[in-house]
Amino acid sequence: MEKREQLYEGKAKKVYATEDPAFVIVSYKDDATAFDGAKKGTIAGKGAVNNRMTNLLMRELEARGIPTHFVEELNDRETLVRKVRIVPLEVIVRNISAGHFASRYGVPEGIVFDSPVVEFSYKNDALHDPLLNDDHAIALGLATREEIDRIRSRALQINEMLKGILAEVGVTLVDFKLEFGMTPAGDLVLADEISPDTCRFWDSGTGEKLDKDRFRRDLGNVEGAYAEMSRRLMGS
Ligand code: 5GP
Repeated sequence: MEKREQLYEGKAKKVYATEDPAFVIVSYKDDATAFDGAKKGTIAGKGAVNNRMTNLLMRELEARGIPTHFVEELNDRETLVRKVRIVPLEVIVRNISAGHFASRYGVPEGIVFDSPVVEFSYKNDALHDPLLNDDHAIALGLATREEIDRIRSRALQINEMLKGILAEVGVTLVDFKLEFGMTPAGDLVLADEISPDTCRFWDSGTGEKLDKDRFRRDLGNVEGAYAEMSRRLMGS
C-alpha cells in the first residue's frame, strides 16, 4: 500500500493517507510529552517499541475475539490500519491505584482494587481531556448509551486478556488507556495503541516501573524500561 499525504500529526504518531480511502498508515515517533504537553522530550527507540508492541498485543486480542483496526506491520515504525472514526473518549481501566486516581482521591499508589475501575475522559486537548461519566458523554453526543455499554464491556474483556498476557512475562498491568473507532460499516473496533506510553506496567516481582512514568517523573533509565518491555514481550 502506497504512503500518500500526511493527514494528521499528534504528539506521538503521524497518520498518512494511502491510495485506498479505507486504510491509513500510522507512523510512531520517538517524541514524548507529559502533563498536557508541558513536558517534552525524546525517548530513543520508543517509536519502534510502541509500534511492535501494539501490533503484537492487537494480534493477540484479535485471536481472542476482539476486533481491532490492525491490518499489517509495514516496518519497525509503521503500520497499516483500517481508517475509523475515533470515538472521542479516552477509556481508562484501572486495576491498582496510581497516577491521577491516587492524586485525585488522595490515596497512595498500589491499592489493588477488588474489581477494575472503568473511567472515561473527553478526548479534547483544548479542555485538557476532562473526566466524564456516561450521562455526560451521552448529553454531549459523544456516544450512545448502547455504544458506551459495548465500550465498557469490551474494555473489561481486554483488561482480562492483557493481564494474562503480561503476567506470563512477569509484568503487572496497573492501568491503561484505550481508544475505540467506528468503521464505515458501524463496527466498533479497538484503535490507537497499547504501549508503555498508554499503560502502567510494574515488574511483578520488584514493583519497578516499566513505562512512561519513568519519563513523567524523571526516574531515569527511560529507554531501558521500554527496551525491557520489548525484550519481555517480543524477545528483542
Ligand atoms: P492517569 O489518569 O492516571 O494519568 O492515567 C491512567 C492510564 O491511562 C495510564 O496508564 C496512562 O498512561 C493512560 N493515559 C491517560 N491519559 C492519557 C493520555 O492522554 N495519553 C496517554 N498516552 N496515556 C494516557
